[in-house]
Amino acid sequence: MDYQILADLLFPNVTDTPEMLEEKYPLRSCPEGAVITRMAPSPTGFVHLGNLVQGLISERMAHQSGGVLFLRVEDTDAKREVPGAVEVLIDTLKHYGIEFDEGATHGGDFGDYGPYRQRQRADIYHVFAKKLVSEGKAYPCFCTEEELTAMREKQEANKENFGYYGKYAIWRDRSIADIKAELAASKPWVLRFRSEGSIENQFKFDDVVKGKLTITENDIDHVLLKSDGIPTYHFAHAVDDHLMRTTHVVRGDEWMATLPFHIQLFKALDFRLPKYVHIGPLMKMDGASKRKLSKRKDPELALTFYKAEGFPVEAVYEYIMTLLNSNYEDWRRANPTAPATDFKFSPKKLNPAGNLFDYAKLTDVSKNVIALMDAQKVYTLLTEWAKEFDSDFAEKLTADPAYAKAILAIGRGGKKPRKDLAVWTEAKGYMGFFYDAYLEKPVFDEKFSANTVKTVLAKFLENFNIADDSGVWFDKVKAITEEIGFTTDMKAYKADPSAFPGTVADVSTFIRQAVTGKTNSPDLYTVMQILGYDRTVARIKAVMENL
Ligand code: GLU
Repeated sequence: MDYQILADLLFPNVTDTPEMLEEKYPLRSCPEGAVITRMAPSPTGFVHLGNLVQGLISERMAHQSGGVLFLRVEDTDAKREVPGAVEVLIDTLKHYGIEFDEGATHGGDFGDYGPYRQRQRADIYHVFAKKLVSEGKAYPCFCTEEELTAMREKQEANKENFGYYGKYAIWRDRSIADIKAELAASKPWVLRFRSEGSIENQFKFDDVVKGKLTITENDIDHVLLKSDGIPTYHFAHAVDDHLMRTTHVVRGDEWMATLPFHIQLFKALDFRLPKYVHIGPLMKMDGASKRKLSKRKDPELALTFYKAEGFPVEAVYEYIMTLLNSNYEDWRRANPTAPATDFKFSPKKLNPAGNLFDYAKLTDVSKNVIALMDAQKVYTLLTEWAKEFDSDFAEKLTADPAYAKAILAIGRGGKKPRKDLAVWTEAKGYMGFFYDAYLEKPVFDEKFSANTVKTVLAKFLENFNIADDSGVWFDKVKAITEEIGFTTDMKAYKADPSAFPGTVADVSTFIRQAVTGKTNSPDLYTVMQILGYDRTVARIKAVMENL
């Protein structure tokens, strides 16, 4: 068959040539070794941890090599598209410090290698589709849904591999007359790749993450263009990543299954194959076994979850880095205050099997991250969070910023900063008692009589002087302890608790509960300093009245 005739028949309006496109999108002038990579999400509106992991890997690889990170939108499936989804993705990733150098933006496209939205690239795909047809490497297939279903059923019954291949590829070698007849009858068609591969053959392949692999050739004549002329992922991937001069394809390893076809396609198109960085899935423990994080079952897959919980962006970023590169934690210990971008990220260190997402570890990392922030920063982030998720608390925080910052400064700075907070949702429980509206009524340990508690509080008030330093203040607490027959000798108490009615710790707890409503609080002396004399006394008196 004269394939050029077939190509002209199928694509009469395509006059551009691959050479013209090669010229229009020249090789990028980047430093040696620069990584050009991209994110190519479908705009479904759901931004998840997997996007962030992929974004972070791509961003680090591009920017630490002096390369380019661009955003291409895979909007070929119009049915799944959610309006505004591209903007949500851009904003969310930006929130996590991942910014694109080119590609789709809020206001359209930016960059010399666009358009960056696949639906706008139909003409480009058709140029290469026509080329493939003219070389006998692709052909139209007029199979109906029913025919394809029947084929599948037959394959199932015969226990054969599924797909359009071998004897099942009924349009592969049809005459031009047959094709013309179908076209004349306006029958819909898809464009299929003519695979020369065989599942008997294998070849070696090197993936940046998975390492050396042995791959079986693809023998299926996959679809390149759907009946509406829109490409499949596979064809768009080859054409786009070639013309956009992608050097590294960072993507989920669910694409490994069709990698043999992609390799074949690049070869057929005479494109240089990019390097592949196939990242394993994010998993979690479910009972004793691991499973992939699922959109349906696991709220923690959605990035909105971390925002609502109040994980600072830095904490999530930091945690993901510890997850991706096992040497990150050591680096962080040696460089506690350096920006995370100083770390030399290596895609080779990614775990080929994927990563176990560990919420407890994230919480731990977050505690460390927050502990190292100064009070001003904590105040800013907490207030930002509260404005969105707890407006009442936000009002309290913003009514008197200096007061809130004094509270948040407790235990900060110094060699061993306190690690009280992991997420902003914990902040109200931690510091709410500083605000009268959130102060809870204390519930004292029943082991002690109301009279004992009252006596302690009365004695405390008798000698309370806000000007005392913490040493004098605590000496007074100890004196009360002795006066009521409790002990200040914790060692002796531990050796024989029954010998004492109570200890200095109990006395402190009575006072702490009276002032804060809780058995646990930041340093009580400091709490009183921040509350001031009048409010401290008023709180203790109010509690005494109710005892
Ligand atoms: N739209 C594809 C996905 O989200 C892109 C894969 C790729 O990066 O090539 O899985």
